[in-house]
Amino acid sequence: MAFITLNKAHFFHNLDLLCAKAGGKTKLMAVLKDNAYGHDLRTMATLAHEYGLLRAAVKNIEEAESIDDLFEEVLVLVDHPTCKTLSPSISLATHSYEALQALPRGASIHLSIDSGMHRNGIKEAQIEAAMELIHEKEMRLKGVFTHFRSADELSGELFWQRANFERAKVKIKAIAQTYAMPFIAFHSCNSAALLRVSSIGSDDYARSGIAMYGYTTLHPLIATYDLKPVLALWAEKLSSRILKKGERVNYGGVYEAKEDELISTYDIGYGDGFFRFDGSRPIKMADGSFSKGRMSMDSFCLGGDAPNVCMFDDANPLAEQFNTISYEIITKLYPALKRVVI
Ligand SMILES: *Cc1c(COP(=O)(O)O)cnc(C)c1O
Repeated sequence: MAFITLNKAHFFHNLDLLCAKAGGKTKLMAVLKDNAYGHDLRTMATLAHEYGLLRAAVKNIEEAESIDDLFEEVLVLVDHPTCKTLSPSISLATHSYEALQALPRGASIHLSIDSGMHRNGIKEAQIEAAMELIHEKEMRLKGVFTHFRSADELSGELFWQRANFERAKVKIKAIAQTYAMPFIAFHSCNSAALLRVSSIGSDDYARSGIAMYGYTTLHPLIATYDLKPVLALWAEKLSSRILKKGERVNYGGVYEAKEDELISTYDIGYGDGFFRFDGSRPIKMADGSFSKGRMSMDSFCLGGDAPNVCMFDDANPLAEQFNTISYEIITKLYPALKRVVI
């Protein structure tokens, strides 16, 4: 059967680089949302814990509950407000004033600030009201954070948003003091911002996802880093045959043999979360061989008869070919595919 390999040495190499940038292992929150960007949540959480990271961020409560035994704190980024009783190590990101209103008293939260991305978070003008409500509902404000919209691009917007967040920080710290709230962690940098800034400044940690897995979308004129992709996708051979000159293979018969050739069918298709290719352009495998014809739901064809083939060990060329980003290529891979740590 097809399988995914996860390279532990590459993962630890990337973590070394990111922790050095952030200022130590306690300064990096591992973003493990969406099944750890398709890698496998429990496996990557176990490795991050083994490395010595203390915090993780995930998409929903279900993900948080499956790894909260491994971390001091797990932040839920996306789930809606809930009245469910949660483990004290799980906290919820609150993206609006309404979310604060909907949460039960005493909830552990991180307050999201809109510093310019305008996707989520409360505005600067709402800080006082939000802090008052948090105090009144006896919520545990564990963190305050923001998100940057273009840290990877050749523009100064990151620094504009950072300045906005710094202003919000000052306000929040002053209000927290008057309410005698306990320690609040501030965090803002995603991977691209962490790789771009010289220091995370007065933030308490950075939230890194994609760079841990070996990728960055940071513009190469800003900086380049020796990140190593962690995931590789392998397909196994189902059958082989000689395609006679003039015969055409797979749906639509879009690939035609120019001469007699040996071809084989492998057990990965778009049903496994690989981008479907329509045969109009061949897809290059990690070993340099090219796909033949259209991809099916559970299989595709290649020349030769190798027992297995590495479809990719670097998502960047595929991302370019499918006009998307590395994030999407890896995150789409189905949880049911077997994962092997190497
Ligand atoms: C996904 C996400 C991150 C991580 O982003 P990367 O670009 O993968 O490092 C950080 N913060 C928030 C709020 C996110 O949603």
